[in-house]
Amino acid sequence: MSSRSENLFAQAQQHLVGGVNSAVRAFRSVGGTPVFIRRGEGAWIEDVDGKRYVDYVLSYGPLAIGHAHPEVVEAIADTAARGTSFGAPTELETELAVQVKSLMPGIERLRMVNSGTEACMSAVRLARGYTGRDRVLKFRGNYHGHVDALLVEAGSGVLTLGIPGSPGVPASVTETTLTAPYNDIDAVRQLFAEYGETIAAVLVEPVAGNMNCVPAMPAFLEGLRSLCDDSGALLVFDEVMSGFRAAPGGAQAAYGVTPDLTCLGKVIGGGLPTAALGGRADVMEYLAPTGPVYQAGTLSGNPLAMASGLATLRNLTRPGVHAGAEAWTGRLLAGLEARAEAAGVGLTTTQAGTMFGLFFTDKDEIVGFEDVAGCDADRFKRFFHGMLEAGVYLAPSAFEAGFVSTAHDEAALAHTLDAAERVFAHL
Ligand code: PMP
Repeated sequence: MSSRSENLFAQAQQHLVGGVNSAVRAFRSVGGTPVFIRRGEGAWIEDVDGKRYVDYVLSYGPLAIGHAHPEVVEAIADTAARGTSFGAPTELETELAVQVKSLMPGIERLRMVNSGTEACMSAVRLARGYTGRDRVLKFRGNYHGHVDALLVEAGSGVLTLGIPGSPGVPASVTETTLTAPYNDIDAVRQLFAEYGETIAAVLVEPVAGNMNCVPAMPAFLEGLRSLCDDSGALLVFDEVMSGFRAAPGGAQAAYGVTPDLTCLGKVIGGGLPTAALGGRADVMEYLAPTGPVYQAGTLSGNPLAMASGLATLRNLTRPGVHAGAEAWTGRLLAGLEARAEAAGVGLTTTQAGTMFGLFFTDKDEIVGFEDVAGCDADRFKRFFHGMLEAGVYLAPSAFEAGFVSTAHDEAALAHTLDAAERVFAHL
């Protein structure tokens, strides 16, 4: 007997490429059929067959306060009742900008966009326009959306699907892209010695979330800051994932390293499509209409997305709220490690606020792409399917970070740890 998900997936494949609208959702690397979801509430989602799961994907990060939070639903409904888009300024855009600025040390001006990809694409153009230089430097296993120039040694679906870069990206576009190993400041220093005068920007995920979850070492980010200062390159933190998760003020607040530009996405829209580019006023004002670098968007700053993001951030920044979810994440990881150890399964975990990584390896320390690629991929697949069966929804790839929301409670913790104990016993 086939499940409703199997039937729906068969239909979807006749109409949507691969049956999905974003590559990783297709379960290609773990095998099997993607689960079709019909609703979510708090920490839980329910599939079309009525099965419930504790959700650690949370739409790949945005749902920092859980599914269908009443404050978010109400904000969206109230706003929608007055119209969904105007192509003219609204007060909500400034309110969200003020909220973000109060949290992120590196942001003096913002530009709202519609996706993390757009934020990173605009960051590259702005950095090139502002500095008058062409080269950008990125790190192996970091993903900055499907931006042509940055689709080099990228993470996320590019890793999951084993796509080395992508056809359709001209060599002339990527020949100005330099890459270095993550967390390796000596390699960056060497690149700066050779190309420093021509580097417009260094783009980095300060907590890498697209090769599983690999937090940067503090000295690495500090080293990038000083190399950029010395050469005149801009330091761009891609906090699409780590923003409002590594800490309410993102990795820049957690590490105390201030970038020139910050890319935001995911949590800033609370589950609706918005993202932002922010940073130093003098650099940001180089964007149109105050400056010469062109950037625009029909739905940018969309009222529904602004309302959803504001409601999410207002809730998340109430005293103790983020801290509670961060502590919960620590208990989850400690519980998983203890159960893995009892079952004789080699498991290393990482945590940055409400982001986490699970690595099937005997190594204690994960610092770069090679460590991640060296983990036991078969064991991950078996773990993934075992947990799915037991009602725990993890990303269908060993190269994605896990996420926790403020709605993850004692019941969700007990359910997850019980499931893991049973699954570890057969790994
Ligand atoms: N940067 C990072 C760090 C991301 O994790 C992602 C998406 N996972 C992006 C950029 C691209 O964002 P979007 O999918 O919204 O285009």
